[in-house]
Amino acid sequence: MIITYPFSAVVGLTDLKLALVLNAVSPRVGGVLVRGEKGTAKSTIVRALAAQLPAVDVVPGCRFACDPAAPDPECPDGPHGPDAEGVSRPAVLVELPVGASEDRLVGSLDVERALTEGVKSFEPGLLAAAHRGVLYVDEVNLLHDHLVDLLLDAAALGTCYVERESMSVRHAARFLLVGTMNPEEGELRPQLLDRFGLTVEVKASRDPAERAEVVRRRLAFDADAPAFAGRWAAEEAALARSIVAARARVSAVRLPDARLRQIATVCAAFEVDGLRADLVTANAAIAHAAWQGRDTVTTEDVRAAARLALPHRRRRDPFDAPGLDEELLDELLRRTSEDEGPDDPGPGNDAGPDGTPPPDAEPPARPEGGDPARDAASHERPGDPVGPEPGTAEGPAAESAQAAAPAAETDAAVRVAGVSAPFRVPLLAVPGIGEGTAGRRSRSRTRHGRSIGARRPSGSVRDLHVMATVLAAAPQQRKRGRSGPGLVLRGDDLREAVREGKEGNLVLFVVDASGSMAARKRMTAVKTAVLSLLLDAYQRRDKVGLITFRGAGAQVALPPTSSVEAGAARLRSLPTGGRTPLAAGLTRAAEVLRVERLRDAARRPLLVLVTDGRATAGGDVDRAAGLVAGIASVVVDCENGPVRLGLAVRLASRLGARLVSLDSMADLGTVVRDHRKAI
Ligand SMILES: [Zn+2]
Repeated sequence: MIITYPFSAVVGLTDLKLALVLNAVSPRVGGVLVRGEKGTAKSTIVRALAAQLPAVDVVPGCRFACDPAAPDPECPDGPHGPDAEGVSRPAVLVELPVGASEDRLVGSLDVERALTEGVKSFEPGLLAAAHRGVLYVDEVNLLHDHLVDLLLDAAALGTCYVERESMSVRHAARFLLVGTMNPEEGELRPQLLDRFGLTVEVKASRDPAERAEVVRRRLAFDADAPAFAGRWAAEEAALARSIVAARARVSAVRLPDARLRQIATVCAAFEVDGLRADLVTANAAIAHAAWQGRDTVTTEDVRAAARLALPHRRRRDPFDAPGLDEELLDELLRRTSEDEGPDDPGPGNDAGPDGTPPPDAEPPARPEGGDPARDAASHERPGDPVGPEPGTAEGPAAESAQAAAPAAETDAAVRVAGVSAPFRVPLLAVPGIGEGTAGRRSRSRTRHGRSIGARRPSGSVRDLHVMATVLAAAPQQRKRGRSGPGLVLRGDDLREAVREGKEGNLVLFVVDASGSMAARKRMTAVKTAVLSLLLDAYQRRDKVGLITFRGAGAQVALPPTSSVEAGAARLRSLPTGGRTPLAAGLTRAAEVLRVERLRDAARRPLLVLVTDGRATAGGDVDRAAGLVAGIASVVVDCENGPVRLGLAVRLASRLGARLVSLDSMADLGTVVRDHRKAI
């Protein structure tokens, strides 16, 4: 038997523990997204919580974990009789791997068996396995958007729905969803972020005593897990009892109007989109009250809920990281809890049924200077004309960008150029026809484009072409001894539609950040062009990556990710200066592309090389160019001035790349005045 690390023995991480417990108490809270660096015991604590969840009664043999007391009437393994005997089993933790297919997640319907044998056969996926347990997605930001959508739909509806060729299966799929992500590897799109109930930022403690205690306990656990678990058994049993008690209490917890109005005021002041935030905050506050043993929601419960439910819902630029101004939260709560006891609805407190504050509600606190929730983040926008001053780059992005280039800083002339307003860029597409996932860049065979023909399927049929299938079967009917109406179908008659649409690509930027570009105005133009291309990639649903080369070598400033926010942050803090190791940049690009091909072979890469073609270090450019030969590429020529060497032109012809000059790109494009509208 595998012994999991005890939940109670986890040091610190109080927000994360609370968020998990609130979800364990009430499924309405809607899951947790855990953001944080690697090595912060995220998966240990999720497993620890799963071990604390009460066992569930299931119908024996049902692959969909039906509850014998209330079996799912639509259960594909049903119907189960009213007096089905239940068996008890522990709540499961199911892990969704990042590379999972859609079939693996939602299950698969066998179209071939249905047509040839008349049997409706469904193979359940991970959503079925996770029903009544925990579904854990490590690196959820690296999961394909389409899978994230399916996952969050199922989580929101408590149902998994699979449809193929007008056959469909529906089964219950209610689970506690926990996703983890390292924001360094790219943000989730805001619309996906919003669909997780709560978010928690985790950081390894900076307190030496706490760090030592973490290690001490971990060593003790690794040395003798049963003994360690035994020492924590009493705490764990008490925790399990508290969860059961809170679950029993939660449906009876009262949310007074005054508290509901408080929630609405807080949500309005933080400028969250829609009413989902109000609903999640209310549900989390109710769960918190139940967890605290209360039968009525108090301001303390609202505060605890808002801290976890709102940071990722603030309306913001797509390039901003989540966050919440706690001082403002406390100010809002103080104002709205004055003169009101927790149980006193008070006069005129009838908040609308949809959670909007009444018209006479006190306006939210607004310190001078406009938008406090946004100012709190104080992030530089992509459109801001000025970047950090030379040598003053700060913050995590700058730190890691510098950490990535440790030995290169012997040049005195390292600086950080600013960024101007992004502009619309001409479409840069991969030639030919790909088979990548849906997007808006290059032509491809997709599942949702227009039908342009039919073919024999290579695996199981997903998108049946009825006419082609009938035509394939028709000549065989006499041979197959058909005597009455209807067709005799065999598996090899089946044809699937060939559709053409647009795919997203992997756009890998390789940017020269050396001294030859460091004339400050030039680098601003380069950064602005790359930022514009990043915005374009965001709209076209591409994956993006960023490699820079300068000084001693090339650095992967942003590993390929489906999200561009981190790329924009890296770009803004990108230092420039030093020699020009062009070959190192190309070599690093070849390495990154090789790994990405293993990860997702169908996603075709587009290499965008931003350079003046000059190389003053880093090896043989010809040989390095050979490593990326055959990859669709674009050279953005940055050379300017009266005397031109034409090196980028030569590089482009060596690579078979399209050549675009930096200046023409900016001239062709129109400035995106409000880039938020463009997204
Ligand atoms: Zn069942």
